[in-house]
Amino acid sequence: MRKPFRFEGVDVEAGTAVRIPVQFGLDPLGRQLEIPVHILHGLEDGPILGITSTIHGDELNGVTIIRHLLHGMDLNPGTEDDLVTPETLSGTLIVVPVCNPEAVIIHSRRSSDGRDLNRCFPGTKTGTHSSRLAHTIFHRIVTRCDYLIDLHTAPSERTNAPHVRADCDDAKSKELARAFGTPIVLHSIGPAGSLRRCSTQEGVHSVLLEAGTANVFEGGAITAGVRGIMNILVHLKMIQGTIRKPDWRLIVRTSQWIRSPRGGMLHPLIQVGELVVEGQPIAQISNPLSGEVEEILSPLCGVAVGLATAPLLRAGEPVANIASVNKKRMRKRIRDSPMTGWKFEDVAETLEDIAEDADGLPIDEQPED
Ligand SMILES: [Zn+2]
Repeated sequence: MRKPFRFEGVDVEAGTAVRIPVQFGLDPLGRQLEIPVHILHGLEDGPILGITSTIHGDELNGVTIIRHLLHGMDLNPGTEDDLVTPETLSGTLIVVPVCNPEAVIIHSRRSSDGRDLNRCFPGTKTGTHSSRLAHTIFHRIVTRCDYLIDLHTAPSERTNAPHVRADCDDAKSKELARAFGTPIVLHSIGPAGSLRRCSTQEGVHSVLLEAGTANVFEGGAITAGVRGIMNILVHLKMIQGTIRKPDWRLIVRTSQWIRSPRGGMLHPLIQVGELVVEGQPIAQISNPLSGEVEEILSPLCGVAVGLATAPLLRAGEPVANIASVNKKRMRKRIRDSPMTGWKFEDVAETLEDIAEDADGLPIDEQPED
């Protein structure tokens, strides 16, 4: 019989799932602050995988990704469609749907003390509220894990095509990123103070999912998240199954933010994840007080990784984040489609490209995650 998993003084028996609150002090009204943590301790030996969500309190897709992962389409625990159960699991899952409860309540990316929690890791015991919260999450939860998946979305007023970010110079983090299965992988070590950067440095191999936008639940982002986590569970041999690979994968080290040349109203002409060619109109900027309309053309060939969604724009504000794709190599893999431009060819094996974009900005200089 596998040994129990001890967490916060509780022994979790093999083959069981429990919810354990991690307590970290009192709020201004004297109420206990706590982070609810789900532990699934599998019957068989295997790695410890952590899944964290809502480090940023308005990035909610991760909460429902976790709910679907643990409880299936009907969202009810203990029913037949639960995707992961402790009885069929090898290893241990430590799942944190809400890392920053007070920020969730106030619908805020930032913590209740106004700080960005994802710049406060690994945190200190005696620092600010956010630093103490980071210290609690890092030392009492994350360092217990061998691997980590951290779930995020774009900030409000932007949206991201589902993609993972990882330090691809760390071989095991890169393997996780490839196994997750999004067509786009962004290589970055993560901003200073981010959970992903600190955990990778600590030997907890980590990936971050960016999918969708803040303050909503989105079907496409949820599906990509659940599928990716299931792929990683199969990759780590924690469950049985088959990894669902993308037809094509682009590993990106830099990308370009296309900025508006003028103020006005934004009318996007493309969707996130879409392929664009050099010179293609990607948005229109209209002047609501006159009849003027100006088109913004993509200066490069690539994939739209992120898009602005707010209609009001000032000159210089970002419109689209495009990851460069080598045109000649791409043409071999995609065929022309008269209506939508380009389309992926069906291929049996994943083809992998490294984006070479001398003019792009390194991902770490685009502080989002
Ligand atoms: Zn985030």
